[in-house]
Amino acid sequence: METYSMGPDRTDLLLPHSLPPDLSPVPAHLSTQTLRGSPNRPNMNRERSRNLYDRALSVTPGGVNSPVRAVRPYPFFVERGDGAHVIDADGNKYIDYVMGYGPLLLGHDLPQPVQSAVQSQLADGPMYGAPTEVEVELAEFVTRHVPSVEMIRFVNSGTEATSSAVRLARGYTGRDKIVVMQGSYHGAQESTLVQGTAGMASEPSSNGIPPAFAEETITLPFNDADAARELFEERGDEIACVLTEPILGNCASVPPVDGYLETLRELTEDHGSLLIFDEVMTGFRIGGLQCAQGKFGITPDLTTLAKVIGGGFPVGAIGGRADIIEQFAPTGDVFQAGTYSGHPLSLTAGLETLRYAAKNDVYDHVRSLGDQLRAGLTDILEDRAPEYTVVGTDSMFKVIFTRDGPRDLEGQCAAGCSQDPDCPRFEYCPKDKGDVNRAETERWERLFWPAMLDQGVFLTANQFESQFISYAHTEEDIEQTLEAYKDAL
Ligand SMILES: *Cc1c(COP(=O)(O)O)cnc(C)c1O
Repeated sequence: METYSMGPDRTDLLLPHSLPPDLSPVPAHLSTQTLRGSPNRPNMNRERSRNLYDRALSVTPGGVNSPVRAVRPYPFFVERGDGAHVIDADGNKYIDYVMGYGPLLLGHDLPQPVQSAVQSQLADGPMYGAPTEVEVELAEFVTRHVPSVEMIRFVNSGTEATSSAVRLARGYTGRDKIVVMQGSYHGAQESTLVQGTAGMASEPSSNGIPPAFAEETITLPFNDADAARELFEERGDEIACVLTEPILGNCASVPPVDGYLETLRELTEDHGSLLIFDEVMTGFRIGGLQCAQGKFGITPDLTTLAKVIGGGFPVGAIGGRADIIEQFAPTGDVFQAGTYSGHPLSLTAGLETLRYAAKNDVYDHVRSLGDQLRAGLTDILEDRAPEYTVVGTDSMFKVIFTRDGPRDLEGQCAAGCSQDPDCPRFEYCPKDKGDVNRAETERWERLFWPAMLDQGVFLTANQFESQFISYAHTEEDIEQTLEAYKDAL
């Protein structure tokens, strides 16, 4: 069911309204000659980024504030965003498919209504430590559109949302064990930074996490219904929750096979465990306003959200059944709190972004560009690398450098793998993290990614992160991107 499009009106997005008057399109220290971005411009000058990175290395670990940004040999530093593009400190212009790693559904220029609402909130003061109307408005918006969400608690990041959701599930069920999928990512938190053998107690995947914490977490391979059944048969009554992304967005966007999410729903229900969908990435991106759970028709008990619902500002949220969410303090005994929780600026940006998406053709636009891009990539691969796999849906996409493929490509999924059992590629399409690990991840990261960057296309920097199309992207951007893929593959 697709009910989110309400007619085209995106003229305000095309105006350069978001540029402060004192910020000229090209930074003052640059001549227009260095403004690049068209394809086939290898070895762009990134001297200023290099110098900034040199300075950054002296004062920040690895020169960055989040490890994924430390691309080799050094990252470009962003001067500013412009619609679907970012412009770096040396004036190079890139078509941006990183989009802040997911939050920027509308691209870099906030539409007029979003921008004025944020500015007006800013003028009234950034935050108060007392409730504000926007918290009620955004809560009402989310509960109206997302099937599983009857009540919601706002926090400040996806990490905070998943760690609070796990605590809530443990508090509600009185059980300690949680189940996560190998290759799923739930933020930089103690319970989920784990690795280990499927179905067994895990060990920490980071230093600084006591092994005793990780022992409470059990991992499963995504899309393996039998492994899930076996685990629940053996230890179902110890399991507080299954926490999973509905699509493995942090593992190259592996989609669920038919019936898998249904199996998780049944098993958790039968054993008194909670099913938690981590929709931090997919929320208000896949399936439009109903999120991925609406698209797949599975209603979890709890849902974690972040990214898009903050409109580019820090945010997180735990939503779900009222009787569970009410276990949070002050109504319940699961403590959860935050100085910045429900931050008026983030919630205003999020609310106005979602209202804008509800009133305009945002989801139709990004889905149709996504289809165009994935179909174009499928064609290119048929020619150049038939063993590779195109994945993604709606505004997410990735090419997985799988090593094996069928000889016969007749009848394959036209615009990205949908795990269709009738597709000749079905048995070759990645189903879990192990499959993605076996792909040519080094070639992707060391050769392909820099080649795309040199052609003015900014992709997420490894084989595992998803990529995002925004409302600001155009058909022309997609055409240009396909040309770059042709060249780089
Ligand atoms: C990004 C992400 C997180 C972590 O969110 P942060 O805001 O970075 O803490 C958690 N879960 C998923 C599925 C994500 O994509």
